[in-house]
Amino acid sequence: MIVVEDIRKHFGAFHAVDGASFKIATGSITGLIGPNGAGKTTLFNVVAGHLKPTSGRVIMDGEDITGLSPHELFHKGLLRTFQLAHEFGSMSVRENLMMVPSGQIGESLWSTWTRRREIAANEHALAEKADKVLDFLTISHLAQEKASDISGGQKKLLELGRTMMVDAKVVFLDEVGAGVNRTLLNTIGDAIVRLNKTRGYTFCVIEHDMDFIARLCDPVIVMAEGKVLAQGPADHIMDNEAVIEAYLGT
Ligand code: ADP
Repeated sequence: MIVVEDIRKHFGAFHAVDGASFKIATGSITGLIGPNGAGKTTLFNVVAGHLKPTSGRVIMDGEDITGLSPHELFHKGLLRTFQLAHEFGSMSVRENLMMVPSGQIGESLWSTWTRRREIAANEHALAEKADKVLDFLTISHLAQEKASDISGGQKKLLELGRTMMVDAKVVFLDEVGAGVNRTLLNTIGDAIVRLNKTRGYTFCVIEHDMDFIARLCDPVIVMAEGKVLAQGPADHIMDNEAVIEAYLGT
């Protein structure tokens, strides 16, 4: 579904991504791992339209989507989750979900007023959908909480929930587990698997927790120094000497 073709992203003389190529198959949960500084986040930002590549192409369903804006990609069903913008923190969890269809994940609200009007016009349907999403994610009890007051792991679930308010096809998740306790990490993992199995979501996940990656992801792509070092099932990857060396070398 997504083909990343020889992507390079240079910052001056520094080659953050240096000729990375791989495929993300429809219906997969693909893991992207690698030592710090390997270029994973930069590559995510290129694929999701937040950075223009120096060279290379990104193809989605046969269409060249290189350099499209996050907004254009959002309408094609390709989303990269982001932490809540400052403006969203003051709204309730349910309102955060209701804001999504008219907005763009990852952008601050450039016109809260316009969006609030759109929401008011569709309030009933949006609230109903938001409640179904909260139920799916097992966080119905948080509906009225202020988003800034919920825990880091619950915010990650809310980020996932925001992708469910639109017809997401491919979701890029950056460090889902950072600072999240084990119980919530399992809840997040379960939600990802259920979205994948029951809603046909394709995921690409950056995560440092190898247990989480091994449980969820196939294949796993390993990056080091801006390049793809290895890819395959998690257990093969973890026995790969070049991969072990890349991790030990940092
Ligand atoms: P990872 O996500 O694998 O830890 P990153 O993509 O965040 O790696 O970073 C790869 C390298 O690119 C790092 O050395 C980082 O300092 C550098 N880098 C990232 N963004 C920029 C930027 N805007 N300008 C200069 N260097 C950058």
